[in-house]
Amino acid sequence: MNQQPDKDFFKYLYSGFEMPLSEVDCGLKCGPHNDYGVPICCDINLVIPAAFELEWSYLRENTDLWQPWSPSGLIDQELEEEVQDGQVLLKCQGYQACQRPFRTLTCRAFPFYPYLSGEGEFLGLAYYHDFREVCWIISNLAFVSAEYKMAFQRTFKMVFKTFPESRKNYLEYCRCIRQEAASRGDQIVLLNFSGGGGLVDPVSEQVSPTEFQDLKAFGPYAVARELPFPDELQHHQENEIDGSCSSDDK
Ligand code: SF4
Ligand code: SF4
Repeated sequence: MNQQPDKDFFKYLYSGFEMPLSEVDCGLKCGPHNDYGVPICCDINLVIPAAFELEWSYLRENTDLWQPWSPSGLIDQELEEEVQDGQVLLKCQGYQACQRPFRTLTCRAFPFYPYLSGEGEFLGLAYYHDFREVCWIISNLAFVSAEYKMAFQRTFKMVFKTFPESRKNYLEYCRCIRQEAASRGDQIVLLNFSGGGGLVDPVSEQVSPTEFQDLKAFGPYAVARELPFPDELQHHQENEIDGSCSSDDK
């Protein structure tokens, strides 16, 4: 850590990253495809939030929402061993008891991680490939707001400055992601900070611009794209009129 942040660092960080990632309540989109209607990223069987130790101290002092997550089998233990140094795994009381001001950074960032080039340049947001089939927003990236992307950038810049180890971990993670994508013959989808989309060639690292509407949808959302909900129709029509989906993020 660069310099010891004071204990309200996470209060400050959270205050700049409060907004949902989209105007659409995407939990209502993915929940119906999951057990009991639970949004995918709030299902502890699918996603276990990690928090910085300092973040956990802040949360522990200010809310009863969280408790430490404990492994219950071999796979869980392996998962716990993979957690980055300086982080802990947590479990909340469930989505019906969510306290939005006390969501972890992991909750706020999901399904995205900060994408860093091999040179260490923070180029944008990329999504976790493993959730393509279940997370609605991954199939509908045009719905991610410009405000959210700006907040994501600002927040992770502060995180990297305060926790340089975290930046190194993401650098290594992105290197692995490029290797995996190259072995699949895939490109990495990027939501860049100027508002548009990009496709990263995992070998050359060249980024070519793309339109979110041209990207594939996955799982049940591929079918849903053929039959858009009324709010999605309206969103697409508005984008066609003002062209803002890929140009208003600064
Ligand atoms: S981010 Fe993805 S998984 Fe979480 S609520 Fe939205 S669509 Fe569901
Ligand atoms: S704190 Fe809220 S957003 Fe985070 S996992 Fe729990 S219910 Fe979901």
